[in-house]
Amino acid sequence: MMSGMNDSEARQTNRDLAARDLRHVWHPCTQMHDHETIPMVPIVRGEGAWLIDADGNRYLDGISSWWVNLFGHANPRIAAALADQARTLEHVIFAGCTHEPALHLAEKLVAITPQGLERVFYADNGSSAIEVALKMSFHYWRNRGHGEKTRFVALTGSYHGETLGALSVSDVALYRATYAPLLLEPILAPSPDTWDAEPGETPAALAARRLGELRRILERHAGEVCAVIVEPLVQCAGGMRMYHPDYLSGLRTLCDDFDVHFIADEIAVGFGRTGTLFACEQAGVRPDFMCLSKGLTGGTLPLSAVLTTDAVYQAFYDEYASGKAFLHSHSYTGNPLACRVALETLAIFEDEPVLENNRRLAAHLAARLAPLREHPQVADVRQTGMIAAVELVKDKTSRTPYPAAERRGLRVYLHGLKRECLLRPLGNVVYFMPPYVVDEGEIDHLVEVAIEGIERAVA
Ligand SMILES: *Cc1c(COP(=O)(O)O)cnc(C)c1O
Repeated sequence: MMSGMNDSEARQTNRDLAARDLRHVWHPCTQMHDHETIPMVPIVRGEGAWLIDADGNRYLDGISSWWVNLFGHANPRIAAALADQARTLEHVIFAGCTHEPALHLAEKLVAITPQGLERVFYADNGSSAIEVALKMSFHYWRNRGHGEKTRFVALTGSYHGETLGALSVSDVALYRATYAPLLLEPILAPSPDTWDAEPGETPAALAARRLGELRRILERHAGEVCAVIVEPLVQCAGGMRMYHPDYLSGLRTLCDDFDVHFIADEIAVGFGRTGTLFACEQAGVRPDFMCLSKGLTGGTLPLSAVLTTDAVYQAFYDEYASGKAFLHSHSYTGNPLACRVALETLAIFEDEPVLENNRRLAAHLAARLAPLREHPQVADVRQTGMIAAVELVKDKTSRTPYPAAERRGLRVYLHGLKRECLLRPLGNVVYFMPPYVVDEGEIDHLVEVAIEGIERAVA
């Protein structure tokens, strides 16, 4: 609140704030014209899994505010750590200087990620972490005398962010097509996404078939390939498409056999989302690079980290004149506030049985969603841990999708807002990715409202 104003002068309604917003703000991933008819929701406060707008309406955050929030909004533990750090050291250049929050966080990340990931490079958002991993992989091969390796293999339907490098290795047409003339050309390997299974084909059998296809790609291209980049277990922005962990173990073997790196983008699936702390654990694999962001700070501040092996680190370690150093930086690299908040987030994992609670909540969510399988406009209900998705189709037998222009998902979103839920379907995919602090009653509410919204959307 501005000083010198009393409460009633300062208080602005949803309408006031939405009108002001439209004058100067340009929102992400948004056709601003939509907001001539759909009012922007001005959130003034958060509390646990709930968001509260200027008129006092409440919304259950069913999508963890773009998949970042783990332990609730305005979490008191995290807020206290942040305030303490802000009074101590808010930021310092991270070249030549270091600080306790960044080095302690590096120690913790090395301890909890798969064994063999020993070096931590910080950046400040997910896309930047992807840029770092791509550049580092390329540069590793170059430092080792393999400058001919300049390409990346990515999976169909993958999403790794929207800066030019990250977008290059993404395969979601909605985000990529416009910018295609500016992008690197990846080699696309078919995703093990179970949606594409043949009738009767198990997820494991599909994973094996897709590994065979990847092998053929590497047989032809390995000499020019730096790395294969994947979202382990769940391709999130591509529509919450899921696959069997065998694909990851097979990928590890292929990367070893063909001398290419394995980049695991755990930006969305890391920190307990899939049932294990990291999705790679379900396949027992160690990637060469692991990218972390989103849940890393519990959803409080932007921060990302790229973990890699000592073998990668050593390829850059030499006399300055060798020209081998990784000369990449961001102004806010290793920001102390963000690192401190990440440490507090990890402390919550240590102090509370988070994964155990999530297993119970995930089972509850699965049971509530199960009846939707019978729905004539639902082709698939799928779930991996605390990510569940319901895929709407125009025709169930042929799986014909609704045309994107019909914006069926938008109707679910609008119905959700009326009924105290923030749901934000990806096209025809209605998904659930709640903060870990929801309870069973809140899950019931989310699912009930989603089902009502789906009924309206397909009517
Ligand atoms: C969100 C996301 C990114 C990009 O992170 P930003 O912080 O939005 O740049 C990259 N990869 C995956 C899998 C993501 O879900």
